[in-house]
Formats: sequence, structure tokens, C-alpha cells
Amino acid sequence: MFYKRRLLAPGPTPVLEDALLASARPMIHHRTDEFNAVLKQVFEQLKTVFLTKSPVLLFTSSGTGAMEAAVANLCRTDRPALVIRGGKFGERWGEITKAYGVPTDVIDVPWGEAVDPALVEKHLKAKPQTSAVFTTLSETSTCVAHPIRDLGAITRATDTVLVVDGISGLGGQECRTDEWQVDVVIAGSQKALMIPPGLAMASVSDRAWAKVKESNLPKYYFSFDKHHKNIAKDTTPYTPAVSLIFALKAALDRMVAEGMDAIFERHQRLGRAMREGVGAMGLTLFAKRPVDVATAVNVPAGVDGGKLKKMFETDFGITVAGGQDAIKGKVVRIAHMGYMDPFDGLAALGALGMGLGRLGHRVDIGAGMGAAMKVIEEKP
Ligand SMILES: *Cc1c(COP(=O)(O)O)cnc(C)c1O
Repeated sequence: MFYKRRLLAPGPTPVLEDALLASARPMIHHRTDEFNAVLKQVFEQLKTVFLTKSPVLLFTSSGTGAMEAAVANLCRTDRPALVIRGGKFGERWGEITKAYGVPTDVIDVPWGEAVDPALVEKHLKAKPQTSAVFTTLSETSTCVAHPIRDLGAITRATDTVLVVDGISGLGGQECRTDEWQVDVVIAGSQKALMIPPGLAMASVSDRAWAKVKESNLPKYYFSFDKHHKNIAKDTTPYTPAVSLIFALKAALDRMVAEGMDAIFERHQRLGRAMREGVGAMGLTLFAKRPVDVATAVNVPAGVDGGKLKKMFETDFGITVAGGQDAIKGKVVRIAHMGYMDPFDGLAALGALGMGLGRLGHRVDIGAGMGAAMKVIEEKP
């Protein structure tokens, strides 16, 4: 049988066709009125997508660059930071704060679970000098959604800013930056934003700008201040990834036209369809508080998860992700974000059922597909 290639891993994700075409246009110089006009619109549209009135800074780097920028611009060596772990990406925050010599406190959440906001509240009461809480919107390694809105309410009542890694979520997973009182949201281009890897973004609230003034850590390329000053002139401090910005403009045009509420609703529906499909096949989810942009499915006992993940690729042309570290071989992670649609989801569910069958674990594929389709067909 012939199978199309389908990229259904949580990043990089398929690229929107309009964005691919936009990035193929001839190069132009970045210090021109023509390019400034593009950037001006991009900076405005980013605010719409981030649901914030604050400036959104744009960096030429992968998402981790903007995570590092957040630490370097917000923290001090004589004030502690609080890192919420519980997955690869929560852990990354702690690796970065440590690399910068920031005294780091951690809240360790068991993988698969979301943080209990009461623990954060208690911590900040005991350590009010904490400069920032670092957490994750969509913890891609476990497919858990942390309660960002609750954390926003807690931190807003303190002198601590809330910094959220929204790299795999932003543009799919609901994130209402201003309404939820999040100070800094980080995004990356290659996940729900539907364009190739290479751009990172960070929204920065007024409260966060006060922290930027106080910070005593070294920074140059990733200076928030420098980027902010350039936004006022519709430009960037250094040569930006011009072609990626053309692509980003095309993706943002589409997102702004669709509207963030519709985008969130669509991802919520697709997420629920996947979860119900998985459940109807008699399989279970790894995440106790799952995100809508990806699903981590527990691999049934007796099945080699590494083999199953490989089989998606070799037998069905589908790229998904496996588990990392302690859950290596124990889960498969299927993304459904950005430029992916219900039929991509059904393809993944079908391949999951077929793959498990070939590895000796029969499931009711029809029940899974039926349950997912039922959710997709529900009246809004
Ligand atoms: C993908 C991802 C990252 C890493 O981003 P890079 O672009 O690879 O630097 C960070 N955090 C989360 C939640 C992610 O999903």
C-alpha cells in the first residue's frame, strides 16, 4: 500500500501552503520601507494572536532562544527564580536559570500531572523576593496543560512575574495572555504557528519591563530592550530571517482572519476527538490534565513503544513522537495543532490501531474512528 507522508509530531509541524509560497518570494533588503511595512503588520498581528496589548518581541532563533532571553532579561543573581518542572520543557527552564547563575527553586510535579497552584502560592508567600515563576503552557513531553490562568491570578498579587513557555501551544492551545495575567509568553514558529523552525517570540508585560530594568545578567543579541526599541521603528536590531517573516505574515493573516476564539475551539474539538478515539479503542492517556494540541497515548503492556513509533513511520508514512527519559518506549505522542485537520487525526488513530494490531495487540479501530468522528461532527 502507498501512504502519503504525514508529519504529525509536536514540532516541526506541516507548513501552511500560503506560508511556503510566501517564503519562496525573492529576497529583499531588510532595511527598506517595503520590509518595515511587513514587520509593522507582523508586530500588530502577533499581539492579536497572543491576545495582548503588550509588545511581542521577535527573535531569529528556535524557541529555546526566547526562553534563554526571558531568563537573561528578567532575573538577577541575587534573587531566586521558581521553576515548575514535570517534563522535559519545565526542566529546561531550570537548566537555563542555573546556567545564568540564578538561585533556582523548583516545584517537582510527577510527569503526567499538572502543577497544584496552591503550592506556587505557598512558595511565593514564603519567598516574596522571587523574581519570576517559569512554567509551560503545553508540556509537550507529557502532553499536560498547566493551570496558567490560576497561576496568573496568584502571581499578579505578588512582586513576581509569570513566564510561560507557550512554544508548542501558542496559536492552538488556549492562551489569553492579558486576561489570564501572564507577564511573558514565549512562542516558537514551528509548532501551532504553521511555519518552519527559526523564529521565536516573547510578549512582555509592563510588570515584566520593570523586571528587565532590574536584571543584572549579561545579554546582547537577546536584549529585550534593544528589540523593543527597534519595534518602535518597525524593524529588528539585527538581520532577521526575512523569508521566515514572509511566511509568518502569511500564517498570521490566516489566523487573524479565522479569529483566536475559533482557533481555540477547533483545537479543543480536535483534542477531544483524539482523546475519545483513543479511549474507544480501549487505550489510556498519559496526561491527567491533557492539552488540546497533542495526545500522549500509553502504550499497552507487552507492546514495545519504540517499535510502534517506528512502525507509524515505516508502515504508514506518519511521523509521531515517542516518550522521552523515564517514559521512553511507554507512550506515543500524536500532535494535532496548527496546519493539521480532523483527517490527519483520523489517519493517526487508524495507524495507531493498525500498528498495535501488527504488534499483537488487537484494538477496535472502528470504535476509535467512530468516536472521534462523532466529536468532529457534533453541532457547535
Ligand atoms: C518544542 C518545544 C521547545 C523547544 O523549542 P526549540 O524550538 O526546539 O528550541 C520548548 N518548549 C516546548 C514546550 C516545546 O514544545
